[in-house]
Amino acid sequence: MAPQQRLDRIVAQIAQSMVAEVCSVYALRADGVLELYATVGLNPKAVHQSQLRLGQGLVGTIAASSRPLNLAEAQKHPAFEYLPETGEELYNSFLGVPILRAGRTLGVLVVQNEAHRAYGDDEGEAMETVAMVIGEMIATGDLRSLSSAGVELDLAKPVTHHGQPLSEGIGLGHVVLHEPRVVVTAMFNDDTQAELERLAAALSSLRLTIDDMLSRGDVAFEGEHRDVLETYRMFAHDKGWVQRMEEAIRNGLTAEAGVEKVQSDMRARLSTVTDPYLRERMSDFDDLANRLLRQLISGEPSHGAKSLPEDAIIVARHMGAAELLDYPRDRLRGLVLEEGAPTSHVVIVARAMNIPVAGGAKGVVAMSDSGDAIIVDGLSGHVHLRPQPDVEAAYAEKVRFRARRQEEYRTLRDRPSVTADGHPVSLLMNAGLLVDLPQVEQSGAAGIGLFRTELQFMIAATFPRAEAQERLYRSVLDAAAGRPVTFRTLDIGGDKVLPYFRNAPDEENPALGWRAMRLALDRPGLLRTQVRALLKAASGRELRLMLPMVTELHEIDQARALIMREVKHLSRFGHGLPLTLRIGAMLEVPSLLFDLDGLMEKVDFVSIGSNDLFQFMYAADRGNSRVADRFETLSPTFLRALKSIADAAARHETPLTLCGEIAGRPLEALALAALGITTLSMSPAAIGPVKAAILKTDMAALRAAIADPLENGSTGADIRDIIREYAEAHAIAL
Ligand code: PEP
Ligand code: MG
Repeated sequence: MAPQQRLDRIVAQIAQSMVAEVCSVYALRADGVLELYATVGLNPKAVHQSQLRLGQGLVGTIAASSRPLNLAEAQKHPAFEYLPETGEELYNSFLGVPILRAGRTLGVLVVQNEAHRAYGDDEGEAMETVAMVIGEMIATGDLRSLSSAGVELDLAKPVTHHGQPLSEGIGLGHVVLHEPRVVVTAMFNDDTQAELERLAAALSSLRLTIDDMLSRGDVAFEGEHRDVLETYRMFAHDKGWVQRMEEAIRNGLTAEAGVEKVQSDMRARLSTVTDPYLRERMSDFDDLANRLLRQLISGEPSHGAKSLPEDAIIVARHMGAAELLDYPRDRLRGLVLEEGAPTSHVVIVARAMNIPVAGGAKGVVAMSDSGDAIIVDGLSGHVHLRPQPDVEAAYAEKVRFRARRQEEYRTLRDRPSVTADGHPVSLLMNAGLLVDLPQVEQSGAAGIGLFRTELQFMIAATFPRAEAQERLYRSVLDAAAGRPVTFRTLDIGGDKVLPYFRNAPDEENPALGWRAMRLALDRPGLLRTQVRALLKAASGRELRLMLPMVTELHEIDQARALIMREVKHLSRFGHGLPLTLRIGAMLEVPSLLFDLDGLMEKVDFVSIGSNDLFQFMYAADRGNSRVADRFETLSPTFLRALKSIADAAARHETPLTLCGEIAGRPLEALALAALGITTLSMSPAAIGPVKAAILKTDMAALRAAIADPLENGSTGADIRDIIREYAEAHAIAL
């Protein structure tokens, strides 16, 4: 049967069974117009002619609000609007429901009667059920080609989400829904009682699974947290939710169609709720409904990974780090999250894997369908769903350009990093996870200048055991194959939270709170275990230990005493020890700037943590986008502080590195080298671009060019301008 015929038949059947004079279907087009697609009762000539804008008239109001309207006197409603071509002036009562699919409104289904009549709740329910079937017909494309104006339906419309950039890079590919929509094929039941029993059985097994997850030690199951599970347990027993699903079954649906219908209603409502607490609770129900659906349709694939396209872009509401690692890396082109913050675990892992990520893309899951074309721009945070050809072409060109650049950088990999006038600038990489390690070879890094040991702790479900720590540290040293590795001891607290760390206090200013060294010295057990694991892993090799967030010099003495106790302990028990042990400090807190000589004397090396040093010097929260980029990192004030550190290090012949994000930006890296900071540690992807810039720069000339503003300047961007001009004149890509 042709799609139009099928639709005509459906409206005729509804009109008959509801004893209504009129039944009509309106479909929402990509241009925001609702087009009359089928009718009995209204003028048949109006089909594909009559049009309403979103929000216009009763039908437009339903589509805009995603809520039904049930009116005994339609003309009295303020939104009522008379469309002469339809001949609907006769009809007084009106019942309209949105046609929903996965929370999106695709159109409106309406019945009308001449008599003043109040439609019952069960009639509304029945209409919503039929609307769901029509929604499926629209979504699967049966109805797409009917529009008179040749306009695509809304479902196929290009959409741009303005999310948050979370991991650099650009990915072009096709949508893979992390939680694929379970396709409900059996809609209507033959045996209501049997379906009610199926629902009850599925619910009780769902509740059991949650109880089971809660009772296991491993509460980070599927990346979730105990609190979430507790909420799930509460919701799984929610009477209102269960009743609504049962009601849908009594109205003729199968158990799975009933679950989906209630879920769909909930999602439509979710899109209009702004209260964050309520939204969170409603999306918990959404997750729960997904689980219930999978439970009911056992045997259906629960994960799209098996049939992954070559260019998969994973679209998810949220995701655990371990779940991302389950996907084959060679097919991943990007990740789009409705939630997710720069410090969420999945984002940390994605960054390590070099996968572009955009977060905060609200509503993207409901808008996408598996296989839709999609672009994720991890530089701007934009997500283009079903992009227009010109957008796609522009991005494809960008990707080709970036690939060519990468190729050029690869050819530099084995070139020594030396300026044009012969000054070596050593380029190291930052790392923190096993997935980072292949980059040591691939990036051409001279070593690992910062190994953030807390990342292993942050993505774990519980405190990693001593053996697991030792194993990771040994793998790191093996992968470095003799290149120097600097392990930073645990830098937790602040924005680096461990969900299982029960004693973590609620702090008003966590960045200034109980973190890093402060926590390590107050809870020496943690540091002791880690130091022991590091000493064992480095047996027979060099071990470089770096202390984060040092504020006063005595903290270094305390940490050193603790480390030496562990050395003694291990040697007493006959364990092999590192060949050499070097202990260094990070310079992240401005207090140290006023005792640089004392600092340089006390340690074997110093590394500037410019991310934190800048945040504290400028009193600008590094995680707050309103203020983080407000101040100039190359201002004379900040550079003078850096230069005083470099001068003190030179005076005391204390090796100095800088391992904050600025080291990885070519323009900033040139400025740092000009100040005399010539060992830089950065993300592995930055090594190529920075090396390319270093090779072309005459350091003496650049130093002379910035000398005056460095000495006499106060604010402004003149140093940046000078370096930019120099770079342009020497064809240096910044
Ligand atoms: C820094 O603060 O610059 C640094 C490298 O440490 P992190 O970014 O891990 O705080
Ligand atoms: Mg830091």
